[in-house]
Amino acid sequence: MKGSTDFDIVVVGGGIVGLASAYKIVLSHADVRVAVLEKEGRLATHQTGHNSGVIHSGLYYEPGSNKAKTCAEGRKELIAFAKKHRIPYEICGKIIVATHEKELANLEEILQNALDNDIEGIEEIGQDEIEATEPFCRGIAGIRVPCTGIIDFTRVAAKLGELIEAKGDGNKVLTSHEVTRFDKHDFYTKVVTNHGAFATKYIINCAGLQSDRVARMDGFEPKVKIVPFRGDYYELTETAKEKVKGLIYPVSDPAFPFLGVHFTRMIDGSVQCGPNAVFSFKREGYGRTDFSLKDSWDALSYGGTWKMFFRHFRYGLGEYSRAFSKKLFLRRLQRLIPSLQAEDIKPCKTGVRAQAVGPDGELIDDFRIERRVNSIHVLNAPSPAATASLAIGDHIDQMATQYFNLPISQKPDVKRSSVSKSRKRKSAKTSKLED
Ligand SMILES: Cc1cc2nc3c(=O)[nH]c(=O)nc-3n(C[C@H](O)[C@H](O)[C@H](O)COP(=O)(O)OP(=O)(O)OC[C@H]3O[C@@H](n4cnc5c(N)ncnc54)[C@H](O)[C@@H]3O)c2cc1C
Repeated sequence: MKGSTDFDIVVVGGGIVGLASAYKIVLSHADVRVAVLEKEGRLATHQTGHNSGVIHSGLYYEPGSNKAKTCAEGRKELIAFAKKHRIPYEICGKIIVATHEKELANLEEILQNALDNDIEGIEEIGQDEIEATEPFCRGIAGIRVPCTGIIDFTRVAAKLGELIEAKGDGNKVLTSHEVTRFDKHDFYTKVVTNHGAFATKYIINCAGLQSDRVARMDGFEPKVKIVPFRGDYYELTETAKEKVKGLIYPVSDPAFPFLGVHFTRMIDGSVQCGPNAVFSFKREGYGRTDFSLKDSWDALSYGGTWKMFFRHFRYGLGEYSRAFSKKLFLRRLQRLIPSLQAEDIKPCKTGVRAQAVGPDGELIDDFRIERRVNSIHVLNAPSPAATASLAIGDHIDQMATQYFNLPISQKPDVKRSSVSKSRKRKSAKTSKLED
């Protein structure tokens, strides 16, 4: 697509969703010039670089929902991608463990959902099998999910960036380029950044925690607002690490939207426990007391945020107390591993989730991607979007092909994306956000 613009498509955001989308577009459209503009000095600085590193199976989502399908497809594609590009990963499996009888009904529901989603190899396990799998874990019943894995998503993002540029001279992945404004003209848009401006025909907004603001730059008022939720992690010390072999999750309560703190053996061999989920006063604030007036005003002047607070008041309070008390955090961890002691855990990283909240206070569960005349906006891509990123990329490529009228080059392996296939299905009920 030669023309008078610098690029045909500018993707805002060098997280895994923006990069996977750009990658899928350059794979299928050899003549399309794509730029990824990332405001930070390196790719994957925010959610993609602060997550649990879990390749999710997709077991919690409503069968047929976009999340369920893109997660399953994306997981398989991600593993093939990692194999091909020699990115370390491990399919270590996970167990979900009930520690109290009152959790058994929820465990059963999760199992049924997993079976409905055709998650490979799922099985119910009892106390003996829990202890055989994780000798320090105590529970009365559980589910084994053998296809769950671990990977470093920053390495995936870096490889995607490399491949995008390698695909054609016209493609660029530019870090330290913060998009500050779009100047609309008849046949192109000038994307203004802190390091100059670029003319482009189309825009794809994958700005994660800033996605609603970038949408507004495009003259579009999204019906949802990004509300940041911080998640703190602790790490097991070198001596305590032996207490966890793989991934151990609690049974989540269906009344609450987050999964609860869990144990994750990371691909680098460390074991992290978390994340909790607390409202953050700063969108990109990784410290417990970080504050931004602009971000706080944005969130707290929105009625949806207050409705959400009221809806999840008790849960939120519990999470807050655990955020400020190591003792309470530890107590939660001890439900799964009773022998864990305070000296076994030390604070480590923090992540901030970009969670879209609707005007009635509902946490928007499914991925939300909307189209304007010359732009596509990813307005909600919470977990498991890192796992699902390559399948989300397929979907965005299809939207771009269709709505931007992109010329299709030879494209033997184009798949129908799950998002478009299930677009007309009824929206999924609130399911879990896998962290
Ligand atoms: C604590 C936590 C744990 C998680 N665990 C998992 C997990 O184990 N498995 C899983 O699959 N998913 C997990 N997720 C979810 C997953 O990390 C996200 O869904 C995914 O990374 C979203 O990718 P993204 O590209 O949309 O956002 P991001 O990675 O946040 O990228 C958006 C990018 O846009 C850039 N940007 C913003 N505004 C501008 C601008 N104006 N100009 C230029 N650039 C801009 C930002 O700097 C950022 O780099 C977790 C998330 C969190 C927070």
